[in-house]
Amino acid sequence: MFADLGISFPLFAAPRAEAVGFSERSNCGICGAAGKAAFASRAEHHDVAACFDCLRAGRAWIAKDTEIGGVSAYSAARGWTDAVGIRRSEIERQGFRAIAHEVEPDSPEWSRAVVPTADLEELIRTPDFLTWQGCRWLFCCRRPMVYVGVWKEPEFEERGGADPAAFFQTVIEGCPAFEWGRHAPLSGAGGPYVFRCQVCGRHRGYIDMP
Ligand SMILES: [Zn+2]
Ligand SMILES: [Zn+2]
Repeated sequence: MFADLGISFPLFAAPRAEAVGFSERSNCGICGAAGKAAFASRAEHHDVAACFDCLRAGRAWIAKDTEIGGVSAYSAARGWTDAVGIRRSEIERQGFRAIAHEVEPDSPEWSRAVVPTADLEELIRTPDFLTWQGCRWLFCCRRPMVYVGVWKEPEFEERGGADPAAFFQTVIEGCPAFEWGRHAPLSGAGGPYVFRCQVCGRHRGYIDMP
């Protein structure tokens, strides 16, 4: 965990081996500090390895893909998400106000979500997690969720009581029914990537498409 290094991220509670672009000892490309935990980040218009302090102070940022749109330093400062291709209904289902995406006039259902800048800035000061097909952050109770890591059978069995398969279905929405312990969602790579709500405590997650 990052706590072993004396650092922590409010939205990343998974093992640090799941973090993308993390190196335990590197030189910061912004402040010049040597031998620091560093993260592949963006600053101005270039890629940079930023130390924890520079990343957390907003001197660098890590673009995020989320289920209600992408987040960059530009969009975070404005309090909205930025991706093309997110439907208004998806944004409103998560409890956010949607505004039309002005650069896509031919696709009026595509929208931005209006989200407090503080939550968007927290997201871009958090590492991505390793996936096959892309790190996509989830929301619950109108807040970004906390990434807790890849769960396999033991994690679902520990929390799912007598019926881990039913618990799995509540966490991984839209996953077709399968025989517990004998199906691809739980074998090999590809997730499931699981989050915890920082408000209500429920878990949500997703799996890479086969
Ligand atoms: Zn630095
Ligand atoms: Zn919640």
